[in-house]
Amino acid sequence: MTQVDRFRTLGLLGGMSWESTAVYYRLINQGVAARGGGLHSAPLLLHSLDFAGVAAAQAAGDWAGLGAQLGAAAAGLVRAGAGAVLIATNTMHRLAAEVQAAAGVPLLHIGDATGAALRAAGVKRAGLLGTRFTMEDVSVLRGRLAAHHGIETLVPGDAARTEVHRVIYEELCRGRLEGPSRERYAGIIDDLRRDGAEVVILGCTEIGLLIGAADSTLPVFDTTQLHAAMAVDWICS
Ligand code: GLU
Repeated sequence: MTQVDRFRTLGLLGGMSWESTAVYYRLINQGVAARGGGLHSAPLLLHSLDFAGVAAAQAAGDWAGLGAQLGAAAAGLVRAGAGAVLIATNTMHRLAAEVQAAAGVPLLHIGDATGAALRAAGVKRAGLLGTRFTMEDVSVLRGRLAAHHGIETLVPGDAARTEVHRVIYEELCRGRLEGPSRERYAGIIDDLRRDGAEVVILGCTEIGLLIGAADSTLPVFDTTQLHAAMAVDWICS
């Protein structure tokens, strides 16, 4: 290793969807370049899955099969030289324990990246948008935010959850950014504000493609940006 090879290699489990993995790739490289200067960029290994199969298995509830698939992919990244792994989606953090066990190296958890930022901002009650899995199954993100970071999460009502989930799979994961969907998301965020949320967590890695601070009546915590920043910290530490 030469003098300039001073960053650690991170393995990414991506392609869920590739629209957000592309954002991770750009943000992590920009962050490492900003720290290292010059021609520095991030040493990364990427295992990018075919999202059609992943989404079909999610819809069928085949979490055991997905756990085995992601675990094998993570182990491959470690064999190839990754010193830690990152799952580039909120929803698949439902399988964080399985992935961590298969990898045998640190897993950079999206809930910890988000929880640390919320705590630093003094937030206690956060609205949460994400897939139906993320909003309804506490084992994805909500349990981690509560148990490790003392953050209570508020989610929209059933009809709004259905719409938020639909837009993720039918539009955002296909690269479609629609004005009417942006307006509906903005309305749902404002309802969360009226229900007592202090901020909104964009708890799906594609939502930041559609919604920015200017679209929201609540301060925005984008899990993609926070997770990518955690990756930069690990790579450069
Ligand atoms: N990327 C999304 C998330 O952060 C949804 C896609 C998936 O199900 O992994 O949850």
